[in-house]
Amino acid sequence: MKVLKFGGTSVGSVENMANVKSIINDGDKKIVVLSAMSGTTNKLVAIAEEIKNGNVNEAIGKINNLKENYSKTIDSLLSHADLNNDVKAYVSKVFSFLTECAGQTFSELLENKIVAQGELLSTYMFNSFLKQEGVSSTLLPALDFMRIDAFKEPDINYIKEQLREVFDNTEVAEIYITQGFICLDDKDNISNLQRGGSDYTATIIGAAIKAEEVQIWTDIDGMHNNDPRYVENTNPISNLSFDEAAELAYFGAKILHPQTVTPVRADNIPVRLKNTMNPDAHGTLISSTTSENGIKAIAAKDGITAIKIKSARMLQAHGFLKKVFEIFETHQTSIDMITTSEVAVSLTIDDDKNLDAIFLELDKIATIEVDKNQSIVCLVGHSVVNHQDTYRLFQILQDVKIRMISYGGSKNNISLLIDSKDKINTLQKLNNYLFELVTL
Ligand code: ADP
Ligand code: ASP
Ligand code: MG
Repeated sequence: MKVLKFGGTSVGSVENMANVKSIINDGDKKIVVLSAMSGTTNKLVAIAEEIKNGNVNEAIGKINNLKENYSKTIDSLLSHADLNNDVKAYVSKVFSFLTECAGQTFSELLENKIVAQGELLSTYMFNSFLKQEGVSSTLLPALDFMRIDAFKEPDINYIKEQLREVFDNTEVAEIYITQGFICLDDKDNISNLQRGGSDYTATIIGAAIKAEEVQIWTDIDGMHNNDPRYVENTNPISNLSFDEAAELAYFGAKILHPQTVTPVRADNIPVRLKNTMNPDAHGTLISSTTSENGIKAIAAKDGITAIKIKSARMLQAHGFLKKVFEIFETHQTSIDMITTSEVAVSLTIDDDKNLDAIFLELDKIATIEVDKNQSIVCLVGHSVVNHQDTYRLFQILQDVKIRMISYGGSKNNISLLIDSKDKINTLQKLNNYLFELVTL
């Protein structure tokens, strides 16, 4: 069986939902994972933010606006009177729940309950649309089987068992529709797989059922060789290895949630990236096959904080790095890049939530310098570290102030740390000289 995931734009309009229907309606049994309609999760996050700030009236205003949009969409999606009424009744319940939330004290759990509504709405609506169109489909509620553990990792054994049970107790259908993104946590509270998490839902399910293939359908024809939001003349890449795709996703290629390939790489389940608006385009196939050497793609991750930790006694002071890493571990903060010199270690983190607590402890053993608003630019490809293009990097980037370089941590990745204000220029330069073959 295949697992097909459709993102926000793919279910973001009546026209696109009709495209999705024609893509999935081919007679094969499949699981279809849906995101919230595009824009909805952002709006739900904004509603939660108003509640957090005590702005109840603003929150209610935003809830009513969103409800209005949904009513209009339902009217153009569902001409069948009974289905139209049934979906409106469901949507009404969701919005009454949101209005109740507006009057409650803010908590992380409340926020999680609010942001979960987007996927609950889109799946209910789309399942009814398929019924109207005579397609055999049924809902598999994600909250009946998708769970993360205390470390926020997918609880794969639980997911496998529950999914089997849910299947056994669900009416047989050709298309099983479920919500991306949402899950339970280890205490059975509503939680989620972080923004963009529907991709991750799809590969977690793919691994749980040992799917033949996972397909991620989005609004672009596969993984491009550079970030199309900032760079001109980017091109789709037809094939990527799991390792290459994992590096690109982790280092900012927004088309994939950072953890997307993790669940499927061990079982060698291919992941295909496809464009809902242009289904005939090849897209990108992510598999265990590696292709020619060299820099294949570039991604950038923003919101990076660089920390230089200097100890007067680092010289021959074994155990210093251990202490430093222990401090980050205690505060559950992972480190992305590291460079060392005789007296200092520089490292980067992407989550500065616990920075004050980390500083308090680092301060006892070292002096610290911090640079915020940094970006990691990551160059990815098979064996990039051994390729001739790599030697041109310094020449290409001679005008860019590079703060750190990570080379050789993996054969497939070279990472550079720069100030975020230099990001677009750096990405465009690399694109021109590495991929567009402009001569220096
Ligand atoms: P969905 O809602 O379908 O999950 P996303 O917005 O999460 O879609 O991901 C698709 C978007 O990712 C594209 O529209 C594109 O702007 C952006 N993107 C960023 N980097 C890349 C890349 N390297 N290749 C393709 N798309 C990328
Ligand atoms: N709806 C969620 C988000 O916007 C999950 C997803 O789209 O993958 O982040
Ligand atoms: Mg996405």
